[in-house]
Amino acid sequence: MASRVAVMYLGRLVEFASAGDLYREPLMPYTQALLSAVPVPDPVTKRQRIVLAGDVPSPANPPSGCVFHPRCHHPARDAACAAIVPPLEEKAPGHWVACIKQPPTGVSWDTQREAGATKQPERHLPVSGSAVS
Ligand code: SF4
Repeated sequence: MASRVAVMYLGRLVEFASAGDLYREPLMPYTQALLSAVPVPDPVTKRQRIVLAGDVPSPANPPSGCVFHPRCHHPARDAACAAIVPPLEEKAPGHWVACIKQPPTGVSWDTQREAGATKQPERHLPVSGSAVS
């Protein structure tokens, strides 16, 4: 089994962490959606599935800013997501994520506001390694 896991979307690295951290606390919304589709081997436990909107865009003509923004379910997603390419940032030791709305981020609120942001970054973790019943 892999000890470190990299998640890619449209050819971009969007999350990279130890397998334990990634499954316990997936921070990139795309990773959250992927993990929400993993079956839970327990008949009485259910995991809330995150269904992505729309289709996968063409890698030849990717969306501006964060390439995941047309399909993202993060509650703080806003116009800044379509304008700013999120840098891959170390959100916790060894846990790298490309998302300007998952704190902490080096993309300041001033920079986000200039790009049209209306929603402050906030921690959003709808899926975890343990399923909800
Ligand atoms: S940067 Fe914005 S669109 Fe991209 S994953 Fe984060 S919240 Fe979603």
